[in-house]
Formats: sequence, C-alpha cells, structure tokens
Amino acid sequence: MVQRSRTGLQGWHIRSGEAGAVLQIEGVSTMAKADFGVFIGRFQPLHIGHEHVIRQALEQVDRLIVLVGSASTARNPRNPFTFEERAAMIRSAFAYEIAEGRLLIEPLGDHLYSDTAWVTEVQRRVNALAGEAAGGHPARVALTGYGKDASSYYLKLFPEWSNIQINSQYGTFSSSDVRKRYFQRIPEVPGTILSAGVAEWMEEFKMGPAFRTLLEEAEYLADYPKKWGKGPFVTADAVVIQSGHILLVERGNAPGKGLLALPGGFVDHDERIRDAAVRELREETGISDAKGQIPPAMLASFIEDSRTRVFDAPGRSLRGRVITHAFLFRLPERRELFQVRGLDDAAHAQWFRLGDLKPGMFFEDHWSIIEEMADL
Ligand code: NAD
Repeated sequence: MVQRSRTGLQGWHIRSGEAGAVLQIEGVSTMAKADFGVFIGRFQPLHIGHEHVIRQALEQVDRLIVLVGSASTARNPRNPFTFEERAAMIRSAFAYEIAEGRLLIEPLGDHLYSDTAWVTEVQRRVNALAGEAAGGHPARVALTGYGKDASSYYLKLFPEWSNIQINSQYGTFSSSDVRKRYFQRIPEVPGTILSAGVAEWMEEFKMGPAFRTLLEEAEYLADYPKKWGKGPFVTADAVVIQSGHILLVERGNAPGKGLLALPGGFVDHDERIRDAAVRELREETGISDAKGQIPPAMLASFIEDSRTRVFDAPGRSLRGRVITHAFLFRLPERRELFQVRGLDDAAHAQWFRLGDLKPGMFFEDHWSIIEEMADL
C-alpha cells in the first residue's frame, strides 16, 4: 500500500506501508539516498548539460540507470545517432563510473501513441536492473531529470518513484542547438558544450556516409516549409493486413529514402480522407487479385471503419505539422496473398510478415501506427 501526498514544487512524499519505510524527497536538498536513480533522455547528442545531471544524480544515488530513449528509430536529422553510438558517447564521458558498476546504460523504445506502453517498458527495464537492493528490501528508486520544457512532461508519469530535482546551470542550450550547428555544409562541432570524447566522435562521424545522408535530409527538410508552408497537412494511410502479413512500400525519395512506410499520402482538395486512403493504396501498390486491379469500392469494403484513427503527435513528421488518418483494411485470409507491384513514387510495394519487422526499418511514426492499428 503506497500513500502519496504532493507538496507544492518540492516533490513526492512516499510512504510505503508494506516496507514500513518512509522516504521523503524534497527537491535537491533530499538526502535519503535512493538505491537507484533513473535518467531518461535521447542524448542526440550527449552534451555537458546532460553530463552535469548525471554527475549530480550520482551524488544522490548508489547506482544510476541511464535509459536512452528513441533507441530503435531509424536515423533522421532529429534522431541522427543510433542507440549504440549514443551509448558510446556516454561511455566516453563516464568510463570510470561504468567500470565501477555505478552507471548502467539501457535502450528504451518509443511507443508514440501509448504512454502506458512506454511507461511499462521503463518499469520493466528498471525492474530488471534494480530488482531488490542489497539489504533485501525493495529497491528505492528516484527519477532524475531537468524539467526543461513541456517535452519533459514524462517526468510526472512515475508517481511511485521519488524525484530528484536538479538545478541545471547549463539550462540554456539543448541537443537541438548542437544538431543545428552540426548538420551544415561546413559542420560545426561546438567543443564548449560537448565533452572531448563526444566532440572527437562527432568529428569522425562527419566524415562518413551516414553524415552525408543526414545532411541531405536536413537540407530537404529545411526547404520543405519554404516550398509547401508549415501545414497543418492532412494525409491518409492504409494499414493493410492479410494472413499475418502487412503491405508496405519502400520509400523511393527523400525524406526517409529506403525506409518502409504505410501506403498513403496527401489528401486532395476535392476528396474525402477515406477515399484518399483507397486511392493512394491503389496507386502505390497496384493491389490486384486474379481478376486484375481491385476496384476502389471493393477495396473500401475491406475497411474496418470502427478502427479508423487519427495520428497527430505534433513531432511525428519533420516536414511540418502532418496529421494522418489510418484506415485498417483487413483482407480475407488466404494461402495466396493479393498481388502487389511498385508504382508511383514508392520504390516498390511488398508484403512483410508482421513478426519480421523492427521499429528501425520505418519512416516517421509508421511503426507506432502499426503497433496501435494491428494490436501488436
Ligand atoms: P533530451 O536528451 O532532450 O533530455 C534528456 C534530459 O536532459 C531531460 O530531463 C532534459 O530536461 C535534460 N536536459 C536537456 N538539456 C539540458 C541542459 N542544458 N541542462 C540540463 N539538463 C538538460 O531527451 P528527451 O527528449 O527529454 O528524452 C525523452 C525520451 O523519452 C525520448 O526518447 C522520448 O521519445 C521518450 N518518451 C517517449 C514516450 C512515448 O513513447 N510514449 C513518452 C515520453 C517520452
């Protein structure tokens, strides 16, 4: 039985009836040492503000678990570095603490349309590492983070953990400033806000092919609002399922060239959103049965209308504000899947076994949409 009371800006008071322990954490002045601290971030890239939070947290907890968020998304100019690359940055700055076993690094996936699924993954990751503390009592866990702006709302999703508030002296800059200066024709590695190991790593990365692809994508995205405006734009996507398979297209052009996407696209001025989903599906995949291309009305009859959903995470597309409507097409179970071919601007359309897919193969938030629509 856990009772909680909120005390203004000062953090949570947690009374654990079962353990008989009382842990009171009051902002920075808290001195009841937690067994484990948890610090969640994207670290795209790791900068000295993050490092300051990690060092301060390590003074207040026995061991700190750093959960590296958006761990399995495909590279893009907002998430340019893989989980392994970001883990290497953290290792370069905290080699000693890691060798001592005081700093643990774990990947954490996104579940963009289910904070519950995301919180569950955080809880599981922490349970696996924290388990029971040395004395056999349940591990006391404290969440650390710096409430930078509205994007830090997630710090409130863990009421069962106490809260270590860190006063950051580096609160005026962010990773996005670093990315802005880095992804240019003449890349700048801002040495004053990156520690030596991270700066060195980024100097090397800028010479490689992944940097060039990211730079091209960043330039494309910078031009996009100049050409098309900022939106909001309305799109329609088709989630087409048949016998454990999903119909996807490989993107032929920027943004996200080479990544998998749901068949879909922008809604025309004179059409309904549902009709746009059917039209785009036919154009991009040429979906056919033995009698030829499936007519629009027949394709539309496979839509489960009660499952239609809007996906509108504000940051879901780096092109601007793009709000999409996903339609679930459930095709009849058959031993032979409907035929598809690549047409239009998609490189090619193909059926994929749902069990073979991974988040990092996908464009924008399409994996998160599939998770929701196909009940994965
Ligand atoms: P971030 O790297 O921008 O920041 C990490 C932490 O460092 C934050 O607490 C931030 O406030 C702090 N920080 C940033 N700049 C600082 C500075 N100059 N000085 C001191 N501290 C500073 O990472 P983020 O974007 O906050 O990471 C959150 C992660 O959690 C993301 O991967 C996000 O996708 C994920 N998330 C996912 C869901 C979901 O999938 N449903 C929900 C919430 C969060």
